[in-house]
Amino acid sequence: MELTQLELMKHRPRRDICYDVIVAGSGPAGIGAALAAAINGARTLILEGRSQFGGTGTAAMWMNYNFLYKDNAETDRGGVNRIFAQAVKKGGSIVSVPGQRDPNVPGAGGNYCIHPEYHKRLLFELLDEYNVDYCLYAPVCEAIMDGNQITGVRVRAKEGLVSFHAHTIIDATGDGDVAYSAGCAMEDENPVNGWRAPITVCFSLGGIDTEKLHNWLHSGMKEIDRHQFEDFNDLLKYAFEKGYFVPDWVGFDETTLPGVVSFNNGTSRNLRLDGTKSFDLTVAERLGMEEALEFVRFCHDFQLPGLENCYLMRSGGFAAVRETRRILGEYIFTDDDLMQGTDFPDAVASKYGGRDPVGAEYPYTAIKQGARFPYRSLLPREVDGLLVAGRCASASFLGHYGGKSMGNMLAIGQVAGVAAALCAKLDRFPRTLDYKLVQQKLKEMDVHL
Ligand SMILES: Cc1cc2nc3c(=O)[nH]c(=O)nc-3n(C[C@H](O)[C@H](O)[C@H](O)COP(=O)(O)OP(=O)(O)OC[C@H]3O[C@@H](n4cnc5c(N)ncnc54)[C@H](O)[C@@H]3O)c2cc1C
Repeated sequence: MELTQLELMKHRPRRDICYDVIVAGSGPAGIGAALAAAINGARTLILEGRSQFGGTGTAAMWMNYNFLYKDNAETDRGGVNRIFAQAVKKGGSIVSVPGQRDPNVPGAGGNYCIHPEYHKRLLFELLDEYNVDYCLYAPVCEAIMDGNQITGVRVRAKEGLVSFHAHTIIDATGDGDVAYSAGCAMEDENPVNGWRAPITVCFSLGGIDTEKLHNWLHSGMKEIDRHQFEDFNDLLKYAFEKGYFVPDWVGFDETTLPGVVSFNNGTSRNLRLDGTKSFDLTVAERLGMEEALEFVRFCHDFQLPGLENCYLMRSGGFAAVRETRRILGEYIFTDDDLMQGTDFPDAVASKYGGRDPVGAEYPYTAIKQGARFPYRSLLPREVDGLLVAGRCASASFLGHYGGKSMGNMLAIGQVAGVAAALCAKLDRFPRTLDYKLVQQKLKEMDVHL
């Protein structure tokens, strides 16, 4: 596609207007929010602090986009999930392939792995197509308040502090930066057992004989160094004892390129790093580089089948954070809601999948498939004009940690976008908006709850 100068400049953010909706952060939740707001007629701006749209979705490279669909059968979820899935599939097999599916893990399905560079371009294209204004390198640093109402956000841009205004703001920063600045009460703890999710630098290795690797991993992993290992992570423990500074666990993510595997991993080794602290993120980056290169050294020295000639192709866009601050909203979505599937009258989205291990005490658990998520969990208690979507929405630690897959976050972001567009149109605050109108709009978008 040829881009004219006019097209390139078309979505420049405007300081001279009041937008209907501003979305801060462009992870799956922010993208879902911006597209849904624009589809529903809102003049929308999305502001992203880093150099790429997509949040963890693009930073973690080929990491599986879980629950873009409902399940293994690729059952369509309607709404922005459908729009995104169709756009991804249109690109063909270099762009995306159905990812790994482990039939032994309940609810591990609906995955897609997407080439990260195509993914980045695709997000520009979708924002263009739905007429969303956008800006990268635009970290939101402050909420602009009029009493208890948020009226805009301030960005610490290269050119200095820049203000943007909107009728309704959506905080999809993952860390709840906007809500935090606006004075909302937040939770950033795991009261269950104090465990903190690792911050991860994903990495991709090239030069892999993927068939050989696959056969070895799935044939009971024959003996290495005269030891028999239970699984790959058991082998990593042994490597660490032998002086290789490897991650304490890795997950193998299939990719769209021959001979390339992407590695999800533990990186931060239970150091309890905090994703809202710059130096903790710096430590995660340092660990990530070390562990990726040490992993390669270990593969070479031990001639691991299929990995004998591997090399580090690239590491992720940034250290990816699984959990930090969450607002204490009108409703705090709990572990019971997730596991049993509470039937909320204001249900607006569904969660699928499982809950990753939470320390040693809580192993992987499948959640209630299609657990309903209520509108009230997007509403902060103290501030008007603000919706909070994605991993910083209102949930207990376990309530958030299960079903945090990107397809679910896209769907939850979509709710915020729909609600914000309605607020602008009807001149309401999110809190005074009738949730039935949101449900009605979602239905019109063919969203399956
Ligand atoms: C290492 C790791 C592995 C995972 N594995 C999987 C997996 O295999 N499959 C799966 O489906 N899910 C996986 N997840 C979960 C999933 O990626 C997250 O739950 C999801 O990305 C959360 O979406 P989000 O939009 O709320 O936040 P994020 O994806 O974190 O996006 C937040 C965005 O906001 C931006 N931002 C932050 N602060 C500001 C600011 N002040 N101003 C402007 N922009 C800002 C960030 O740069 C980022 O782009 C994983 C997560 C991690 C971290």
